[in-house]
Amino acid sequence: MNLASGVTVISNGQLLDGNGGPPVKDAAVVVRDGRVAYAGPAAGAPPVEPAARKIDARGGTVMPGLVEAHFHPTYFNVAALEDLDIKYPVEYVTLLAAANCKLALECGYTAARSGGSLFNVDVWLKKAIETGLCPGPRLAASGREICGVGGLMDWNPDYRKIGMEGLVLLVNGPDEARAAVRKLVKDGVEWVKTYPTGDAAAPDTNDHHTLCMTFEEMHAVVATAHNHKMKVTGHCRATEGIKNALRAGYDTIEHGTFMDAEALDLLLSRDVACVPALQFEHASVVRGKEFGLSQRVIDGHQETLDAGAESARMILKAGGRLGMGGDYGFGWNPHGDYARELTFFVKSVGLSPLEVVRCATRTGAEIMGRGDEFGTLEAGKLADVLVVDGDVVADIAVLEDRSRFVAVMQGGVVKAGRAA
Ligand SMILES: [Zn+2]
Repeated sequence: MNLASGVTVISNGQLLDGNGGPPVKDAAVVVRDGRVAYAGPAAGAPPVEPAARKIDARGGTVMPGLVEAHFHPTYFNVAALEDLDIKYPVEYVTLLAAANCKLALECGYTAARSGGSLFNVDVWLKKAIETGLCPGPRLAASGREICGVGGLMDWNPDYRKIGMEGLVLLVNGPDEARAAVRKLVKDGVEWVKTYPTGDAAAPDTNDHHTLCMTFEEMHAVVATAHNHKMKVTGHCRATEGIKNALRAGYDTIEHGTFMDAEALDLLLSRDVACVPALQFEHASVVRGKEFGLSQRVIDGHQETLDAGAESARMILKAGGRLGMGGDYGFGWNPHGDYARELTFFVKSVGLSPLEVVRCATRTGAEIMGRGDEFGTLEAGKLADVLVVDGDVVADIAVLEDRSRFVAVMQGGVVKAGRAA
């Protein structure tokens, strides 16, 4: 991805640097050749040449670009899980995924970690974004997901198994788990997404269903993936599944719904970040009926939402790390609504706006293994910057409103917003 050349000065706004500290009032951010040269009080900013580009934050907020930590570019307003494997051919899924990446960038998301991809689309999307072929967040690519036979992602009986090869690699035992990971190595995947536990969305393998994968399968996935410098994450709701994943050496935990004290200890002892993705549950409860979800499934989402919120509070209070990502791409939780996750965490989980911004910027970059490159506004970092005409601390929901964006900057280049 190209870096801008020249100097840009962003001023007339408060600075949130992504580290979670109090805002710096009347701040300036100086960008030189695509990197942050200065971020702090305007009074202390270095002099710049008169030809420097000026961006006026209009009394609003200057902050790091957002990081979507559980992104599914290839999901397309899915109304039922079955849509994922039969609705569209890979050619059309690829076009939809490119459009979703453009939308995410316009929504202020300058980086994203995939939480699983249909076919191998994310790997090539990443290449297309990095070479400037299409706009989108800096992407950490995932690929086909791994699940045990008969587990959450194996809902089709044999007589109607159509298209599943694009969605999931179904495994039986550690040998097949190793073989699946080795296939992903050749595909160029960075993150291996697995399904250790069930979900409210599939009543036959509900939330408390632990063994969609055995510990031995999970351990084989981690050992093989780490050998090849890939990272592993998993859809972990049930308590035992969370513990199995942490004991097997998972790099992050998705959802972490039913945490107990022992699971929390395991999480904290290795400082593993968790991505709760609660707005998905909230939207499932509020809008599920419109899309034909049964009352049983909606009740399951409510239980998941309540437990997930409690677990998220527990993790953050104990000094753990949370990423903000929302599993967008379902009919009731569409692409473009990404920042609703942040609003939900402030208004319904009880985190402060500064905590949520840190989770959505610095922690997101750390999850991607790129915390030294972006995620905070500090000298030397890539200038991935979001300039918002509004006070994000007073009202986090301004981040949901793209019409308030003055600039979405990636590597110093203004890619979206009114200044684009
Ligand atoms: Zn997901």
